[in-house]
Amino acid sequence: MSTVSLLDPDAPTAGPGPLRQCPDPVRFQGKPVPLILAWTGEKPPDPAPPRETDVLSIDGVRWESWSGTPQGVPLWTVHHPGRQLELMDSRTRCLVGGGPAHRTREGLLWLLPADPAHPDPRTTATQAIRTANPPLCLRHAHQAQRHCRSLAVDCLVLLVPEVEIVAVRGTVHRPGAAPCWEELDLDHPDLEFMVGQQLVAELRDPVVLDELPPLPQPNRSGPPSEGASR
Ligand SMILES: [Zn+2]
Repeated sequence: MSTVSLLDPDAPTAGPGPLRQCPDPVRFQGKPVPLILAWTGEKPPDPAPPRETDVLSIDGVRWESWSGTPQGVPLWTVHHPGRQLELMDSRTRCLVGGGPAHRTREGLLWLLPADPAHPDPRTTATQAIRTANPPLCLRHAHQAQRHCRSLAVDCLVLLVPEVEIVAVRGTVHRPGAAPCWEELDLDHPDLEFMVGQQLVAELRDPVVLDELPPLPQPNRSGPPSEGASR
């Protein structure tokens, strides 16, 4: 799996220019629902070992393919496996709107819940952090941070110069053993027994910020500002 260097701020984006805005996601009862989340209108398949007919992800890992459409009620803590794969495999798309993530000369923007089980990168030298969360655009990062604060969740703000997909989380169906949820590195021999649900990225040499970069101020002569209310 190749490593993507994200240092080049002039790297092409999918839109007409670097100011292309990340789309707003649909809302449920007034709350924006990040694109990556699953809905009650979407259903996982019955648990089963990997099959020849399954959809393949990167590196040939069989991927869990859900039926249905994103309707009903959002599942606030569940990533939709297909959309997580698509967003994370790009390594540069916002998990909320699917547009370009915020990029600076120091790297791409990640906002992660602080993990009490790991050393705090704000106080210890940390060379890499693993996560199944894709990056964010600046506007949606501010939204997400407000949401975290309302839940009293401590968040890390990171700028990441280098990202590599290193592992897959999913259900492993080893012959003769009960299925179990695990994270396996991409060179693990048991990947052939896995039905994948989340790609895991390693964020290398992250720069930890005290605060999110501020949103740009509205500019009447420019394109629609990221500072629009919400
Ligand atoms: Zn966004």
